[in-house]
Amino acid sequence: MNVQATPAVKAQPKTQPNTQTITGVTHYTDRLFSFRCTRPASLRFRSGEFVMIGLMGDPDPVTGRQKPLLRAYSIASPSWDEELEFYSIKVPDGPLTSKLQHIKEGDEIILRPKPVGTLVHDALLPGKRLWFFATGTGFAPFASLLREPQTFEDYDEIIITHTCRTVGELTYGRDLIEGLKSNELLNEVIGEGFWKKIKYYPTTTREESPKMGRITDLMRSGEAFADLGVEPLCAQNDRAMICGNLAFNLELKDMLEDFGLVEGANSDPQTYVVEKAFLD
Ligand SMILES: Cc1cc2nc3c(=O)[nH]c(=O)nc-3n(C[C@H](O)[C@H](O)[C@H](O)COP(=O)(O)OP(=O)(O)OC[C@H]3O[C@@H](n4cnc5c(N)ncnc54)[C@H](O)[C@@H]3O)c2cc1C
Repeated sequence: MNVQATPAVKAQPKTQPNTQTITGVTHYTDRLFSFRCTRPASLRFRSGEFVMIGLMGDPDPVTGRQKPLLRAYSIASPSWDEELEFYSIKVPDGPLTSKLQHIKEGDEIILRPKPVGTLVHDALLPGKRLWFFATGTGFAPFASLLREPQTFEDYDEIIITHTCRTVGELTYGRDLIEGLKSNELLNEVIGEGFWKKIKYYPTTTREESPKMGRITDLMRSGEAFADLGVEPLCAQNDRAMICGNLAFNLELKDMLEDFGLVEGANSDPQTYVVEKAFLD
């Protein structure tokens, strides 16, 4: 009898990091880029959550061993996407991003597939109008939620404010919002013209642009509400998600609480949620 040999399956060590392959990279400025990679079939996540990703670190000078260098990253792609997308800062001497900024198609990254986070629909009570407040790469979780049908099913109006230092730093968000108009899945599931529910309010703090200033100042003066043609927030109708640097998050939390909104969590849904875009 001719018995065919079964190919030997190599046992993976338990600590073997889960690696994914880069499928595309786009650079926006000398500080910002985005990339896409393969998605493990087993990875389930809710739009707005984050995971740990990274690269192998430099070899230890004594032992020669390499350890994974991992950082928290919001998944910028929606839960239905076949691939994963991330939107990243380039910190010149940052342990991870000084290397990560050089990745190219075909390279591998490490992904710890344990998604978590509070910028999820489950952590908010039902409402009519949803606000996304972002600075810099804090736009990433909203890039996911803006491509999530539930966002448009659950709310009549979605307002996204994005404050960056320069005009170039707004490009990823602006292109993504423009691209929603031709998003096949959203047009099919929600219906043509769904994107009219979105009001986009980009502002810059350092470079001249049509709207300059910090969103907190523009809200405090009432200018943001006048520009958008909307009423200030009210706890009955408005829900909000915040993702920015620590000072921004704290200032905006105070403002939202003055409007009567209450911070929620996965275990206790309320009227707003907040997450740091990075650790200061
Ligand atoms: C919950 C969570 C989600 C995150 N999601 C993202 C994401 O989607 N995209 C992303 O680029 N980063 C994100 N970060 C930050 C990320 O984890 C790393 O800090 C970043 O990739 C830089 O890594 P690094 O090793 O090069 O430098 P680090 O040693 O981690 O950081 C060095 C310094 O760079 C500054 N810095 C770090 N990240 C940023 C940033 N995003 N924007 C501006 N300044 C920064 C800080 O001052 C920090 O002290 C997230 C952080 C948290 C806690």
